[in-house]
Amino acid sequence: MAECSHHQQVRGIARIDGELPDAQSFAELFSQGRLGLTIEPANGKRYQGVVPMEQESLAACLEDYFSRSEQLPTRIQLACDGERAAGMLLQVLPAAGGESEEDWNRISVLADTLTQEELLTLDNESMLYRLFHQEKCRLYDAQSLEFYCDCSRERCGRALQLVGRDELLAAAGEQGGHISVDCQFCNAIYQFDREDILALTEDQRPAGETLH
Ligand SMILES: [Zn+2]
Repeated sequence: MAECSHHQQVRGIARIDGELPDAQSFAELFSQGRLGLTIEPANGKRYQGVVPMEQESLAACLEDYFSRSEQLPTRIQLACDGERAAGMLLQVLPAAGGESEEDWNRISVLADTLTQEELLTLDNESMLYRLFHQEKCRLYDAQSLEFYCDCSRERCGRALQLVGRDELLAAAGEQGGHISVDCQFCNAIYQFDREDILALTEDQRPAGETLH
């Protein structure tokens, strides 16, 4: 799962049951998987698209999503080496109009010549020049991304309230007097002891019971 906001704040998580096999292709790893993309505009309706993960790579699955859901010709290339990750998205803008298929084909073919190594090591200007020096290009200012997790003690507390007082107290009893909630995105640990649980679930207190 990966999340990105319009403030260029990202967080992501990957999990697997058991051991990650060494030599297994993307398609085997995600066999029968589905890729869901959710867009939550600041104003307006939340939108979700789901496509089967039937392609050879995450990039190809994303291209598949764009062709099925948005019907926008899209090329995506992704690369990572364990230290760095980079990607390129090539897309016909919906408002562009009048672009010939020939242009798209020529640009896609040029983009396909980009190697993983180039994607990881070249700066944007050099990459654009190497691929599209015969086209008219405009390079926008770069925007930096940052890791950001919006988890909080309050949010964890609200989730715990749904569990209910008795179960929380029982769980805390079993776990040395407190409940730990770990954020899987940023590894923050929020601890709630007996007093915290009682305060959180104040409204679940049986009538007539008093706190000491
Ligand atoms: Zn977090």
